[in-house]
Amino acid sequence: MTEGLVFNIQRYSVHDGDGIRTIIFLKGCPLKCPWCSNPESRLAVKPTVWNKNGQAETVGEWWTVDQLVEEVMKDEIFFRTSGGGVTLSGGEVLMQAEFAQALLKELHQLGVDTAIETTGCFPLQEIASLTPYLNQVLFDLKIMDQTDARQVIGINQELVKENFAFLRTQNLELTPRIPLIPGYTTSQSNIQALIDYLIQQEVSAVHLLPFHQYGSNKYQYLGWEYQLKDASTLTDAEVRTIQSIFEAEGISANVDGLK
Ligand code: SF4
Repeated sequence: MTEGLVFNIQRYSVHDGDGIRTIIFLKGCPLKCPWCSNPESRLAVKPTVWNKNGQAETVGEWWTVDQLVEEVMKDEIFFRTSGGGVTLSGGEVLMQAEFAQALLKELHQLGVDTAIETTGCFPLQEIASLTPYLNQVLFDLKIMDQTDARQVIGINQELVKENFAFLRTQNLELTPRIPLIPGYTTSQSNIQALIDYLIQQEVSAVHLLPFHQYGSNKYQYLGWEYQLKDASTLTDAEVRTIQSIFEAEGISANVDGLK
């Protein structure tokens, strides 16, 4: 029986796809984003032990598809009344592509709206294996320069672009999500490269995700160095300035929680 390694299930989310959603966080990610707020999800698909406030705790639990479907269907009423559904996040969902496909297929057959959040850094056929069972894809676009992307986060940006272009041709809602990380993604040249690419792909709306420090304690639990521990968050005015650059180019830029 196929099992997947899950490190969190979050209910009543309104930020990761349409309506009210249940988010299933799958473990494993090959990237090394310095700003990662889920560092416990990284590296291989196997449980991680961290030390939380003096207590050793295992992160990651194996679930079958049937168990997870039963769990998330407890929230079905919220999906139906809000136009929501289930989002698979991570980590990187495609690290467990076979399990993700089995889970999405089952949910799709039950009529549940399905979404994934992905960095798109896997072979095209793995992404293509999920698309028949997907309504939405939240696709991270981070650092556009190929050399910088490889050095800083360990990603093949050419492959990311190839996968993004493929998803544009599929019958699903594709939403680029851009983390705004000072010193990494918010330079003038990176913002312009993002805009140029989005215009080339005829994309008219993005989500901007301002940097936050919510994950900083997790690095302590893991005993890892957190490179951004002293980094400042962006002010609302700074976020609005970046938002206006996208909007001046005809790209609607949604930011949750902006006052
Ligand atoms: S892709 Fe996501 S989970 Fe993976 S390292 Fe980057 S921020 Fe963390």
